[in-house]
Amino acid sequence: MIPEEIKNRILDLAQVEEVVGDFVSLKRAGSVYKACCPFHNEKTPSFVVSPSKGLYKCFGCGKVGTAVNFVMEHESMTYVEALKYLGKKYGIEVVDKDESPEDIARRQRSESLYLVSDFAAKFFVDSMQTPDGQTIAYQYFRSRGLEDETIRKYGLGWAPVGRKALLEAARAAGYKEEYLIDTGLCKVFDDGRVVDNFSDRVMFPIHSHSGRVIAFGGRTLRSDVPAKYVNSKETEIYVKSRSLYGIYFAKNEIARQDRCILVEGYLDVLSMHQLGITNVVASSGTSLTVDQIRLIRKFTHNVTIIYDGDSAGIKAALRGIGLVLKEGLSVKIVLLPEGQDPDDFARRHSLEEVRDYIAHNEQDFIGFKTDLLLGEAGDDPLKRANLINDIADTIALIPDAVTRAVYARSTAARFDIDENILVSRVSRSREEMIAADRQQQRQIQDRELRQREMQAPEEQGYGEDRMPVQPPVYQDEGPLAGLGMDEPLLVPCEKDLLQFILEEGQTDLEFDRDSRYYVEGERVNVAEFIDATLADDEAEFVNEPFRKVYEEYFRLYDEGLDQKQIQTRMLNSEDSVIAEITKELIIAKYELTVKNYEQSLTAVATVLVQFVPKAILTYNLKKVEVKLRQLTDQLTRETDEERQLELITTISTYTRARTRLSNELGRV
Ligand code: ZN
Repeated sequence: MIPEEIKNRILDLAQVEEVVGDFVSLKRAGSVYKACCPFHNEKTPSFVVSPSKGLYKCFGCGKVGTAVNFVMEHESMTYVEALKYLGKKYGIEVVDKDESPEDIARRQRSESLYLVSDFAAKFFVDSMQTPDGQTIAYQYFRSRGLEDETIRKYGLGWAPVGRKALLEAARAAGYKEEYLIDTGLCKVFDDGRVVDNFSDRVMFPIHSHSGRVIAFGGRTLRSDVPAKYVNSKETEIYVKSRSLYGIYFAKNEIARQDRCILVEGYLDVLSMHQLGITNVVASSGTSLTVDQIRLIRKFTHNVTIIYDGDSAGIKAALRGIGLVLKEGLSVKIVLLPEGQDPDDFARRHSLEEVRDYIAHNEQDFIGFKTDLLLGEAGDDPLKRANLINDIADTIALIPDAVTRAVYARSTAARFDIDENILVSRVSRSREEMIAADRQQQRQIQDRELRQREMQAPEEQGYGEDRMPVQPPVYQDEGPLAGLGMDEPLLVPCEKDLLQFILEEGQTDLEFDRDSRYYVEGERVNVAEFIDATLADDEAEFVNEPFRKVYEEYFRLYDEGLDQKQIQTRMLNSEDSVIAEITKELIIAKYELTVKNYEQSLTAVATVLVQFVPKAILTYNLKKVEVKLRQLTDQLTRETDEERQLELITTISTYTRARTRLSNELGRV
């Protein structure tokens, strides 16, 4: 945990335009700044930064957030990492308080693993300057067409012959054996002897997405060694299924082009990058994992996979793509001419030729699969039927309904069958899939719950590293969906009131002398007025998520913070529900302000005097209506005559209240 006061100092100091401006060149436009969006590819700027709101928003791709969110998203950092980054920028030292001894040990251990890996990376690079390094490793890299600049930039190196070269160098430099063994750079034999794990190999360091060396791949050049490649084992800092080779060097270009190209090996990545196609990463032999897909999804939703044009390549293309589709990415396939891998292809062609080839041979995955299987099935009716079902199941994986519909239509046309048949097969398959996923999720939740019950209570807090960039409350169905609202009918009214509080809470309401709200000699601001009026009617927000936001506002208000400070705190709240709702409400208003820029600036105060009481009355009216609906429901189900009479009396009281409120509403 970062101490609250340090966190707040950073949040108060971090100006969104300064933070974003470090990565994007901003142009002033009135009270806001504009730029081309760093998160999607565009030619005319639709990315707007508002210093007064402390938020950025892209009107193209919809990304929205604070200075902290920007750093998290743009640099793929966790919440804590982003705060540390901002702390550095604004000269505030960030130390985690109350780290337990275990936490400190864990952090120091990770740091030690990074340091040892870093030392090893430098050692392998330096070893290239030895006679062996020059004649064996350097010659090999050159023979693979790699230029000096590429060798330097990607930190390629050489692990010398002999079994103790790294070990001795590291010991001499003061590194502990323990960490050399833990990173898998060295290994221990049964008799206790410690030796290098990598020797007589050319070395490819693997970087994390933030650029630190986390692991190595080593390739032997000898034909008598059975294992061509040896890779680092998994450690705290290297989880294979979450790493992509080249991601650090590729991420900015992936985001800029809004497309990630996937290849298989280290050399494929290096040759493509060297040629000038730098949005390329490799899954390093393994088929793609969900975590790798999610890493890509931080930068783009579009993936192009380049495969060798042989039959093994084609089979590989069909495998594992379901996963990518299911994560909502759009997948294209490029098959290279037979017998060539991306490395060969990039070395034999110019940048223009490779770009052209990709552009002309890119095929969307469903189309690719259909064509391929259609050729195999020929005219056999049974085979064709199986094939149609197979394609339908693949389409069913796509989360977006419109995309599914488009694919269903084009596939039906290609097979010349009734579109409805395909559509119903797709929806059935999707229902089955969702049911299966739910079941699986329930099992996982049960397991987690059991685990949590066994933990000490103080360990159950909101893990900072788990703070999601896009909190799970906002899913595809749009803002505020999935928040678990108890009474949807009251959502719009509670939202309106919250919006007034969050936006203009501390603006004074200047009622006219003849207004029923006018009190001689008393000043009241929007927040207090709403709170007092609601409290009069013993009202509380019905929808739990909104109530939470409401209470948080007044908690901070009571601490004496000004409106801007409250906004900053709430936008950056570690409670994702509070942060997201605040963001959503402030932005909604802000979109309005951008659109009706001039009008909205005039006479905020006069507008508020009218609209705030109106919003409260509307809210009360809606609540009465909800109550009436419940009572009428009850009445139809009630069989006891006495109870029926009671209900009728209550209903008529509420009906009178409804009339009174709508009259009043008519007057304001
Ligand atoms: Zn955008």
